[in-house]
Amino acid sequence: MTAQDGPQARVVAIDGPAGTGKSSVSRRLAQRVGAQYLDTGAMYRAASLGVLRAGISPDDEAAVAELVGGLLIDLHDGEDETVVLLDGQDVSSAIRDDEVTGAVSAVAANPRVREQMVELQRRVGTGRFVVVEGRDIGTVVFPAAGLKVFLTATPEARADRRHRQNLASGRDSDPAAVLASVNRRDHLDSTRAASPLRRAEDAVEFDTSDLTLEQVLDGLTELVERRIGVRR
Ligand code: C5P
Repeated sequence: MTAQDGPQARVVAIDGPAGTGKSSVSRRLAQRVGAQYLDTGAMYRAASLGVLRAGISPDDEAAVAELVGGLLIDLHDGEDETVVLLDGQDVSSAIRDDEVTGAVSAVAANPRVREQMVELQRRVGTGRFVVVEGRDIGTVVFPAAGLKVFLTATPEARADRRHRQNLASGRDSDPAAVLASVNRRDHLDSTRAASPLRRAEDAVEFDTSDLTLEQVLDGLTELVERRIGVRR
């Protein structure tokens, strides 16, 4: 069996830092090509919300790993966003709060948390036609993915996107604070010991700074058709 016909052959791995348009691109790409969609960031966010609600410090490695091991995290595709259930409760909006965004990089740096999440992600994606977005999908979770994409954009373009998203969803937003938060999260995600954010050697890199969503989608749809075909 070669990588082309293995159980990860129809996985599309989309990695990159915050604010590159990863979520919008991944969701819309999945809709266009008829694949499922898995937002792994939402899983780390749900775990972080559980940690905060339990009153545990995100830096307390042992307590965090134990708590997360007992959480029930469930994801469903909704109309415009992933519906995330934490122990049966819809937390889709709560996981986007600033408090969670501030804690998630510490929780995601926890090696035992990552082991649990990666196992869950492989259970969902293996053998399926699925677009999986995250930070370590092409490097760690699905190293034999049929297509790997690494999205990039300048820090300013990424902060600007996040700022607009915040405003569109009715959240308070200060552009300078958003830029600082994006830079901080990138630094933590790229320098952590466990599965740091980095581009897989065989990933196709797309700089989205000056591209519209449609332009990125057109490029990626063509790649999916060429590399994976649209066998469903
Ligand atoms: O993509 P999103 O911004 O929702 O991800 C939230 C955080 O989850 C990231 O900043 C990163 O710390 C973590 N994450 C990760 N590995 C993934 C997906 C997300 O470490 N595969």
